[in-house]
Amino acid sequence: TQAETLLEVSNIEVIYDHVILVLKGVSLKVPKGGITALLGGNGAGKTTTLKSISNLLRSERGEVTKGRITYMGEPIHDSDPSVLVRRGVIQVMEGRHCFEHLTVEENLLTGAYTLGVSKAEIQQNLELVYSYFPRLKERRKSQAGYTSGGEQQMLAIGRALMSKPEMILLDEPSMGLAPQLVEQIFRIVKSVNENEGVTFLLAEQNTNVALRYAHYGYILESGRVVMDGLAADLRENPDVKEFYLGMS
Ligand code: ATP
Repeated sequence: TQAETLLEVSNIEVIYDHVILVLKGVSLKVPKGGITALLGGNGAGKTTTLKSISNLLRSERGEVTKGRITYMGEPIHDSDPSVLVRRGVIQVMEGRHCFEHLTVEENLLTGAYTLGVSKAEIQQNLELVYSYFPRLKERRKSQAGYTSGGEQQMLAIGRALMSKPEMILLDEPSMGLAPQLVEQIFRIVKSVNENEGVTFLLAEQNTNVALRYAHYGYILESGRVVMDGLAADLRENPDVKEFYLGMS
């Protein structure tokens, strides 16, 4: 049985500043309940793809000029970014972006803004986040700006989880982190996926780690998907081994 497609990107083209063609017809499918990896080197178009989905391109003078993006079968491109958030799609940006002057716990609480959620539920979500990230519980009273890179990545994911999302778009979770921490973050992503059923689409330059945790992968090169397949197959593919797995 095949899983339902939660998100589908069909042949999108993205142009920055009216002239710079960055995505040249990208298509991908994200099955509900899976971890899908968007792979490729620096500048391949991973972040642009995520921002096309979450409608965050406009502030960067970018525009989807062709193609279609659907979420649960309905077209979403050109809707307001908040529409997607309300429908349960949260993007965790590259570089983390916490509120530096707030504590770790206050940062987490800013993720729980969904209307109509009771205090008790927020408290429950907080405990759930702390169960995945015990480190955040230890650091809950610390000012976020003084936490480590790994803790800030945990915080960014934890904050996304506070809104009980259906799907998380995760941009480059490994960035700037030591290998052990990268492994730890991916293990947590996997257990959130398995236990909470959250669907992940993650952009990652670290092909090696991403293909060990994802179910399916798409490889982008200069704005095009050049290869896709089950993660287990991509790991064994000679071209992937030569061009991507050696690097990380
Ligand atoms: P990275 O890992 O560096 O984020 P990426 O695969 O996510 O790489 P993108 O950030 O999507 O790649 O960038 C794809 C291309 O688009 C790059 O050539 C980049 O220079 C260009 N680009 C990104 N943002 C803009 C922008 N706001 N205006 C013009 N060009 C941009």
